[in-house]
This record gives sequence, structure tokens and C-alpha cells, in this order.
Amino acid sequence: MRFYVPTDIYVEKNCVKNHAKDLLAIGKRALVMTGRSSAAANGSLIDVTEVLKAGEIPFQIFNEVEENPSTDTVGKALQIARDFNADYVIGIGGGSAIDAAKAVALLLSNPDLHADELHKVPQNPLDHVPVVAVPTTCGTGSEVTPVAIITNRKINLKKSIPHVIFPTLALVDGKYLASAKKTLIVNTAVDALAHMVESILNVKSNTLNRMCPEYGLKLWGEYKDTLLSDSDVDESLYEKLMFTSTIAGMSIAQTSTAVPHGMSYDLTLHAGVPHGPAVGYFLAAYTEVCAKFVPQDVAKILSLLQLQNIGEFYEMLRHLIGTCTVTRQMRDNFAAAMKVNHSKLDLVPGSITAKDIDYIYEKSLVVE
Ligand code: NAP
Ligand code: ZN
Repeated sequence: MRFYVPTDIYVEKNCVKNHAKDLLAIGKRALVMTGRSSAAANGSLIDVTEVLKAGEIPFQIFNEVEENPSTDTVGKALQIARDFNADYVIGIGGGSAIDAAKAVALLLSNPDLHADELHKVPQNPLDHVPVVAVPTTCGTGSEVTPVAIITNRKINLKKSIPHVIFPTLALVDGKYLASAKKTLIVNTAVDALAHMVESILNVKSNTLNRMCPEYGLKLWGEYKDTLLSDSDVDESLYEKLMFTSTIAGMSIAQTSTAVPHGMSYDLTLHAGVPHGPAVGYFLAAYTEVCAKFVPQDVAKILSLLQLQNIGEFYEMLRHLIGTCTVTRQMRDNFAAAMKVNHSKLDLVPGSITAKDIDYIYEKSLVVE
């Protein structure tokens, strides 16, 4: 058994300022990557740039990372990083900004590679410049995972790049959630939930790596009623939500995500569904199918979430993210692609059949 997360992780209020020394020690010239507006609005960008200014580290900001970042955006940021001679990349934001930062870090060290080739890079280690991650959503856990999910719109492909890039430093502060709407908190918390469930319902799950998802699911179960309620999330919960998301990231860093994530990418690519709900729509049906193979694990997940049965799991997710409608043709195309997606199917802790896959799609998507 092995547990591996090489990232130096701090989870606490004001941790960017508290650990300024660590942030400054990583490089000499930084490319700071964010989305269009949220990092400026929630205080994370100013926290980081104040530290860089005080430490006399020159930096360049690239604030054009879109949701589900594309190879084109990565290529644009890379050119700026090269012109600036950046020797490290700081990703501030949701999974999109952090994943894009990882991709730029890889390309910076490999001048022969083009952004369009990111999905073809080898799995074996290439150099990459260090990445610092400052998350501002409570979902992806990208600050502690080796994964960067990039979309190549020219070939309609949303997928993780094969190369492993753990951030060197993760600075996790729940206060950045203050500017997030309830929908964003719910959507990204559902992503974190999926990471933990898929990490347990996974052939790579073992006693050692279960520490993370089991503890995280317990935390999730403690605040699920707040997520389900009509009221806003109280700021006293921000740190717990962020902490759970980081724990969920550490979970998939050991096992990787499984079938619901594999199914989600087409839904995002072809129907524009945000990542959290796109995964969440498939989560209960995947759990139900896995109950045939690992009933004790499913019972444990439900009990940690303080749910009585799988029906309540379906109901909870429906309440949180609603339903998703697609055409029959879309659903058939998605199912056909999933039936040959062995990178995800091989992770199922039992012999999943084509009929099971059809069942998951039937239960998870409404056909118009
Ligand atoms: P995101 O795409 O990074 O951001 C979604 C939206 O939330 C953006 O409009 C962003 O605005 C806004 N936002 C971010 N933080 C905010 C805050 N504190 N307050 C208000 N608005 C805020 O969302 P995400 O769900 O975190 O990331 C999704 C991406 O991560 C997907 O591409 C997914 O496939 C990937 N992912 C990666 C991993 C991994 O291990 N690497 C795991 C799961 C998913 P701005 O654009 O203005 O910043
Ligand atoms: Zn995810």
C-alpha cells in the first residue's frame, strides 16, 4: 500500500500571508494565472501579489483562464510566461485556473512541446517548473492532485493530460468562498463528494488511502443539510468545505476518479454542464451499480453521509443539482463512447457490463 502526495499543504485562515516565505522560496519570477474576475473579487489575487511585491519577486498576471480551460488558452499563457522568463506558475482560482497553471508549467520546461500536444505527452516524468495552487472553489482539489484537465476544442476532447504534475505548494483558505454564490458552492461540493465516493468505489481503494475519503465523507455528511437548505452558507463553514475538498483531492490523487467522471466530460463538452453537476448526475446510479460488487462499501458511504438508503442518495443529489435533459442521440453516443473507455471501466470494483452502463445513463439523464 502506498500513500503519495508530495505537495506541501497549508489549510488555514490567511495562509497565503502566513506562509509568504514558502511562496517566495519557490522561484524568482512568477506567472500568476487566474480566471477573468473571481480572484480579483475574492481577495486571493491581492493576497498573493502583496506577498510577491513585498518579497521583490517580479510577476506577470494572466487573467484569461476560462471554465474548462482550453489548449488555446494554455498556449496563450505559455507565450506570456516565456516572454517574461517565468520560472514558476501560481494558479489562483477554481480547478480551471489551477489545471491551466499545471499545463503551462509543463510546457515551460519542454520547449519542443506545443499546447495542442498536451494530451499526447508521455506519462513518464518530464520536467516542469514548480506550481503553487491557491484554490477558491471547494470542489476539484486540484491543489493536491497530479491531474490537469484540459480541453482541446479543435478535436472536441476534454481529458486529463497524461503527465503527472503535483503542485509544490498548496495554500488553502476558506475565506475566498465568501464571494461565491450558493450554486457555485453546491456544484463544487458535489464534485468533492464524487471524488470521495469514486475513490472508495474503485479497484485502487485500500485501507491506507481510505483514510481520506472516509473522513471527508463524514465532514460532508455533517454539512449536507446546509447545502440542501434554502439559506446561504454561513462563513463558519467555509474552512470545512475547503478542507473537505482538499481531502477529496488527496483521495483521487491515490486512486484517480472513476466512471462518473469519465461520463461527465462529454456532458460538459457537448451540453455545457458545469463540472460538479455533470459528475453528480451519474453518481447515485454508479453507486447503485457498485452495490452489486461491494455492498459493504456502499453501505459505509451512505452511513457516513447519514443517508438511510440509495433512494435517499438519488433524492439528495436531485435536490442539490436538479436533472439534466439531453437528446436520445446524445445519450446513445455518450454510452457508446463510455463502453470502450477502459481507463475508467477498469477501475470499477467488479465486472461492469454494457447493460450496467446503459442503466446508469437511463437513471441519470432525462431524454427529451
Ligand atoms: P472553475 O471552472 O475553476 O470556476 C467556475 C466559475 O467559478 C468561474 O466562473 C470562476 O470565475 C468562478 N469562481 C471561482 N472561485 C470563485 C469564488 N471564490 N467566488 C466566486 N466565483 C468564483 O470551477 P471548478 O469547478 O473549481 O473547476 C472545474 C474544472 O476543474 C473543470 O475543468 C474540471 O474538469 C477540473 N477538475 C480538475 C480536477 C483535478 O484534479 N485537477 C479534479 C476535478 C475537476 P473566474 O473565471 O472569474 O475565476
Ligand atoms: Zn471532479
